[in-house]
Amino acid sequence: MRALRVDADRRVILTDSAPEPTAGPGEAMVRVSRVLLTHLDAVTAGLIPVSGLPAHAGTLGHLLCGTVKSMEIPADATAAVSARRSLVGKRVVASPSIACAHCDLCRAGLSTHCRTRSVIGTLGREGCCAQWAVVPIAALSPVPDNVSDDKAVFAHPLATALHFGHMLRADGKTYITVLGDSLVALLTAQTLARVNKSVRLLSTRPDRSRLCERWGIRHRPVDEAGRRQDQDAVIDCTGTTLGLRLALQFVRPRGTVLVHSPLSLLPFPAGKPMADQPPPHYLQPVDWTMAIANEIQILGCREGPLPEALGLLAESGVDVLSLAGSKCRLEQAPTVLEALRDADHLPFLIDLDGGKSR
Ligand SMILES: [Zn+2]
Repeated sequence: MRALRVDADRRVILTDSAPEPTAGPGEAMVRVSRVLLTHLDAVTAGLIPVSGLPAHAGTLGHLLCGTVKSMEIPADATAAVSARRSLVGKRVVASPSIACAHCDLCRAGLSTHCRTRSVIGTLGREGCCAQWAVVPIAALSPVPDNVSDDKAVFAHPLATALHFGHMLRADGKTYITVLGDSLVALLTAQTLARVNKSVRLLSTRPDRSRLCERWGIRHRPVDEAGRRQDQDAVIDCTGTTLGLRLALQFVRPRGTVLVHSPLSLLPFPAGKPMADQPPPHYLQPVDWTMAIANEIQILGCREGPLPEALGLLAESGVDVLSLAGSKCRLEQAPTVLEALRDADHLPFLIDLDGGKSR
């Protein structure tokens, strides 16, 4: 099977002889049509060292769209899993975060924070940048008929952007700033602007400003924005302490700062010590004095559920196709991974079926 992998010597390779995966109980075999490669995949590939992150050896890729070929539904499966038998032959996307369904947090309804969470193609699971991928049935969501594979593969980052809106309740706020140049920053600005026209994006790159211009979203270069502590909420999508420091200068007293990082899919298992050294993105110190004195509410934000994002894509309520460069073949994947060392580089759409699907 053709796949993009990290070999035992920690080299990124494209191979035609990857072992074809086999679905176990509770898993589905998916014929992959599209993969969205992002900065997280470059981190997983070892192109950016992150202290404390276990090395991933195997197939890369955590965001896919494809068609379900078969499923292994165990005899004792829950009704919800059994009902997913109807997805065989259908197009699907998958949540990359895989919960155990048994720990105390899963049983308490907090399965997104499962204590033994694994992540497709990143931690504890083979990835999807291959002709075939094995995905837990519970992680699958069906793609609406009018949503192309090219768009559907954006469902997970779009769900993250929608999750920000739910945490913030953006419709009641007057001044909201989104900070960053990343895919999630651009999706967050688009989704929040649907309910609050005062939303602005502060970026460092002129091409991001041009996108906002086209979408009718307010924008400014971050260096030109006054740090007047007057924003009701700031959403820091930079994934850096520099961004967090800026956010604390933009937000008003008793305002809210939401923080997201492209590395936030990586689990920090309970009971395990934190890494000795934070990732390179978080090396600079933050002076928390201002946050304490101004009584700022700081909330971490990781990811949201896929169905709402797929619904928004079906309504054509957001532009995702402008957020990936030209479509690439799998042969180009090792090269584009190098470009994704840059955390703010927009993702690459990898076509695994030779353009047969939309
Ligand atoms: Zn669990």
